[in-house]
Amino acid sequence: MKKKIWGKRVLLPGGWSSNTLIDIDQNGKIKDIKKNVQPSNQVFDTLIPSPMNLHSHCFQRAMSGLSERSDSKTNDFWSWRNFMYNFLNKISPDHFEAICALAQMEMLEAGYAGVVEFHYLHNDLSGIRFHNISEMSQRVINASNKSGIGLTLLPVLYEQSGVKGGNLISGQDRFGLKLCEFNKLIEEVISLENKKGDFHIGVAAHSLRAVKKISLKELSKNFLNYPTHIHVAEQMKEVSEIYSAWSKRPIEWMVENLDLNEKWCLIHCTQMHDYEAKLLAKSGAVIGLCPITEANLGDGIFNGRNWLKEGGKFGIGTDSNVKISLFEELRTLEYSQRLKYKSRIVLKTANEYTIGRSLIESVLEGGMLASGRKTGKIQKGYWADILALDLTSFDYFDLNDNEKLDYLIFSEKDVVIDSVFSAGRLLVKNGKHINKKKIITNYKLALHEILKKL
Ligand SMILES: [Zn+2]
Repeated sequence: MKKKIWGKRVLLPGGWSSNTLIDIDQNGKIKDIKKNVQPSNQVFDTLIPSPMNLHSHCFQRAMSGLSERSDSKTNDFWSWRNFMYNFLNKISPDHFEAICALAQMEMLEAGYAGVVEFHYLHNDLSGIRFHNISEMSQRVINASNKSGIGLTLLPVLYEQSGVKGGNLISGQDRFGLKLCEFNKLIEEVISLENKKGDFHIGVAAHSLRAVKKISLKELSKNFLNYPTHIHVAEQMKEVSEIYSAWSKRPIEWMVENLDLNEKWCLIHCTQMHDYEAKLLAKSGAVIGLCPITEANLGDGIFNGRNWLKEGGKFGIGTDSNVKISLFEELRTLEYSQRLKYKSRIVLKTANEYTIGRSLIESVLEGGMLASGRKTGKIQKGYWADILALDLTSFDYFDLNDNEKLDYLIFSEKDVVIDSVFSAGRLLVKNGKHINKKKIITNYKLALHEILKKL
């Protein structure tokens, strides 16, 4: 549906623009932008591009609040993973769809226009294949039709339990596919109907430990034009396993053995050495950071200063969805870097901006590259992925436009998200998702049934 929205201040690719009218066509793309015009139609205080959430496992949203206990001798990523395996064995396709819709709704309310779903829950309980191998992928798409979120779906290849190629262990059965089954899945996903025109597809390998070397090389050759993602260098144990098997650190091995480019997104890289940052940045690959989840799981802190020094690009994702908050994600990212380097204003890429604007511009570009979606800019021909903010409280009085973004990220006390448009669809109004009641009702029912079985 065609619409026009007006902003008192609007962040365009060339900088801030006053009194600006954005014309959106019936497909959800930006058709025209007029500066210095009188307010009309839908009027907003501040409009900025709404970023992509470049990494999510929606089903893990339902684990929030359940995995902060200390039941085992070790409390680390691997014990959390055991809890996750147990949890997902209680989830039916209907539960999965209800959880996905809730997580996507919360992403929209947090200011994300779209999500890149790293989707690896393919099979029924005990690894039984569904009649249609794309059954669970269809559930992610169904959820996105309920929430309205822009979706890049990444079906994930998961073949083995460890770098030496062991059989899948209990808890991994629902992920496992052979390469030929994975190719069939992609074929089916491509043929799935989606009423939104902004649906995109990419591919992913779960991690270097979970796929065969030969499959990874096949995947990188067969899907040249698709966004391609992988979890890598997240945990020290994973790095040492790869090193002892292949005599290379994970990122080093990938740079030498795969044709990496800007279609690739490497998730986490919290265990990346300086020399690996140098090698990887030259390839153009994006790093996907998930600071809230990485803090929650004790992953470590990304080598941000060196990554930027080498010209590397990054975006952000909500990963485990333990807390879905765009501005908290950005704040956690910058604060973790300050603690690591005992310094301030670390992830700034451009001298003319303050840190807030720099962080936002970086994740807009990273999200665009990692999602394969024409997004991240309020510009003619781009999807109308737009975040409307209400920055009219006394806190923002007399701050300039860039300082307002700094206040928003580092000091804001209340929610200031007014509206969110994804490909022109108005999905969040006055801070609330348009289908909130129904999505929450379905989620509560699903969670109740899962917790009874846990
Ligand atoms: Zn992940």
